[in-house]
Amino acid sequence: MACALLTLGACTTVPPRGALPQYTTLPLTERASVNFGQRRPNYVILHHTSDDTAEESLHTLTDPVREVSSHYLIGRDGKLYYLVDELARAWHAGEAYWGGLSDLNSASIGIELDNNGREPFAEPMIETLLRLLDDLKTRYKIPAANFLGHGDIIPGRKVDPSRFFPWKRLATRGFGVWCEPPFAPPPAGASDAFLLAAFGYDVSNLKAALAGFKRHFLGVDNDSALANGERALLHCLIQRKMER
Ligand SMILES: [Zn+2]
Repeated sequence: MACALLTLGACTTVPPRGALPQYTTLPLTERASVNFGQRRPNYVILHHTSDDTAEESLHTLTDPVREVSSHYLIGRDGKLYYLVDELARAWHAGEAYWGGLSDLNSASIGIELDNNGREPFAEPMIETLLRLLDDLKTRYKIPAANFLGHGDIIPGRKVDPSRFFPWKRLATRGFGVWCEPPFAPPPAGASDAFLLAAFGYDVSNLKAALAGFKRHFLGVDNDSALANGERALLHCLIQRKMER
């Protein structure tokens, strides 16, 4: 067990003997293989709690009636709380979408940050977050572009982490993509919706996707159409994502 949890991918997980669990009702012939390992998270989704204390959030995130959770919570003081097994599916993302993926809960580690959404993020908390992200990125080989906010994957319904979140600082450490001017012009005729969708956003509500993009990459709460320079920024981010 310790091997499976601590050195994922570096050791062989031996399956239990006996029948495989059966999920389908289709008739099947079982030939159990020993060649498999544990599925691994490939995204990190960041949240702010909207609460004023970590204790309030811990109560919510562990209350069976609320049916919400995250793998980690980081307090304003930098204290790191571990709530759900990294290899289990915590309930933090909801009905999300990013780049064709609709079950972000199954694919991600969820991290809640002790912040009410109307204030800057405390420095001790960010320092702990950077150490945790470094650890997760190394252990699970998570691509830089797969560090996202809740507001990116459910634009319109979620706005966390807020515009105060230091995404640029994270990106300089390899957690998330970033671009600085000057930018090359975007392809002629490429619409806001086309570029946002190419980057990963759900554009079924274009205003919401615009707001999510601007909060994350421009630090503003605004859902208006992209100016030329903003479209060039988005085009640069798409290229940066493709570079991995
Ligand atoms: Zn959230």
